[in-house]
Amino acid sequence: MTAGGYKGKILRVNLSDNKFQVDPLPKEWIKDYIGGDGFGVKILYEEVPGGTEPLGEDNKLIIATGPITGTIWPMSGRTVFISKAPLTGIWGESHVGGFLGPELKYAGYDLLVIEGKAEKPVYIQIEDSHLELRDASELWGTTTDLTTINIKKEHLDPDIQVAAIGPAGERLVRFAAVMVNHARAAGRTGMGAVLGSKNVKAIAVRGHGGVDVHDHEGFFELAKKAHLRVRENPQAQEMGKWGTWILTAVKQEIGELPTYNHRTGVFSGYEKLTGDYIRPRFTVSDRACFGCSLGCKKVNYVRTGPFAGTLEEGPEYEGLMAFGSLLGIDDYATTLKANQICNRYGMDIISAGATIGFAIESFENGLITEKDTGGLKLEWGDREQTIRLLQMIAEREDFGNLLAEGSKRAADSIGKGSEKYAIQVKGMEVSGQDGRTHRSIGLGHATGARGADHLRSLVVVDQLGYEDVAAKRWGADKLPEIIDPYTEKHKANAVFESENSYCIRDTLIVCWYSVSWPPIFWMEDFAEMLPLATGVKHLGKVENLVEIAERQITLKRLFNNREGITRKDDNLPDRFTKEPMPEGPGKGQIVDLDPMLDDYYKLRGWDLETGLPTEKTIKRLSLEWTKAHS
Ligand code: SF4
Repeated sequence: MTAGGYKGKILRVNLSDNKFQVDPLPKEWIKDYIGGDGFGVKILYEEVPGGTEPLGEDNKLIIATGPITGTIWPMSGRTVFISKAPLTGIWGESHVGGFLGPELKYAGYDLLVIEGKAEKPVYIQIEDSHLELRDASELWGTTTDLTTINIKKEHLDPDIQVAAIGPAGERLVRFAAVMVNHARAAGRTGMGAVLGSKNVKAIAVRGHGGVDVHDHEGFFELAKKAHLRVRENPQAQEMGKWGTWILTAVKQEIGELPTYNHRTGVFSGYEKLTGDYIRPRFTVSDRACFGCSLGCKKVNYVRTGPFAGTLEEGPEYEGLMAFGSLLGIDDYATTLKANQICNRYGMDIISAGATIGFAIESFENGLITEKDTGGLKLEWGDREQTIRLLQMIAEREDFGNLLAEGSKRAADSIGKGSEKYAIQVKGMEVSGQDGRTHRSIGLGHATGARGADHLRSLVVVDQLGYEDVAAKRWGADKLPEIIDPYTEKHKANAVFESENSYCIRDTLIVCWYSVSWPPIFWMEDFAEMLPLATGVKHLGKVENLVEIAERQITLKRLFNNREGITRKDDNLPDRFTKEPMPEGPGKGQIVDLDPMLDDYYKLRGWDLETGLPTEKTIKRLSLEWTKAHS
């Protein structure tokens, strides 16, 4: 074994040659990259040259785990899909929960790298050392739930973990998702379209091994304490009961609930999108991912109305926002139905909802007409039409074909100034936050490696009761400005810190909710745990983990720079920088991005003018090897 926690093996499948190959995991990667996103960015930078077509045969898709995936550490069952993104043409990744990652480790592999393109539809079967490309012609065209059921049936094994694409991935919808066991989405950036472009319908994994950590007793004792911390954390308990629905009311209260395509941050119908309203009326059971004692997932059922009979897991806050307030819909049943369509067809809910919002606002302002939409009158709050549009996008039918390209490409095609209604950064639609009412969010959206991103730098230590932590991190004298959401001052420190911390989270890989909101575990906790899990002493120091995080973030930046990304692309839509928030607690606020970017680049060691990492930074982070691949 390479080190405790790892299987020491990279499984590669070349679809063009119909060949599998098992390579050793290079030991030196562990100290510099740990796992997960870290291994992924190293491989993608080296093996997918600049200018590669995301939907072409030369792109690769990597499924990565981390050193504690499949162990008893709480919420350690996640996996990441990594590729050059069809939605943005830059760094792409999407994390997902469920049980897929642990199963891949139990089968004996840390990573799966998918290369080339199959001649006809296949699914990849991995059962320990049994590796096979199986015919998927019968599955092609089916939804992700049926694909999953049929594969499990075919092998008479309910414990097979299935990652599948739906019709949206097959049709190369730019924001197609990979669905794990149907209900968990690797949603953002279009990983489903990459699989579709390779004629891969699904990946089915079954393993019968285990994961061996370095210090069994020490790791077990620490993991036990970690589980207790999760269970005893009051915010985690709330999250277990309500899931992220808890956020709707919080966002409404601070005026940051994206409404009418981010025009405003307050929504008159928000109450029907809160946990208090939803849980007693719709929730039938709670679910959890591998190793999670929190269980934030909710299965819900609609009893009456046009969507009666809908039974589905989710949606979380982002879905309530994307198919609710963002489109002016105050009806939970619609958001559940929309979530079901996205799950079954395999689409990212945020990009799908935001692209429909873009279309409605463009229609409202006369930039597109019924002639363009095939007779559809696009209006806010139209529930049944939203569901119809989602199906049209997934099938690339008529007007849906344009929207399947995402809001940026659709705006480029429509022209007439419609780009101002495409609320996106670097091509990825903005999630359920607003920099006008929370400046650090604005900076994080602008600098995110994969585009507007709430999962790589959603700063929480400057809000919601974490003032003591913020004071400790940056000094009590800075506290008043750090916790003021309406000032640009010190926000770069907060984003720098949270990006680093989330980066380590994504190398391990552990659930978002144990590190980010609520932040139960900090970098110090991982520094204590990692040597017990791996036996690698270098990972036991916070300063080393910070350097590893900096290395990965800068390497993703170099990947994007190679695709032409510079400071000009670290931007926000005019909606946030030129249109003051029209109402609510943040009324009159706009984002002044430039001073925050200057501060941020200084912390990262990136050039202030170009946004490219300086030579000094490249050397400091031991990234000189990238020059051989530029
Ligand atoms: S908190 Fe939710 S998403 Fe995270 S591991 Fe638990 S059930 Fe899965």
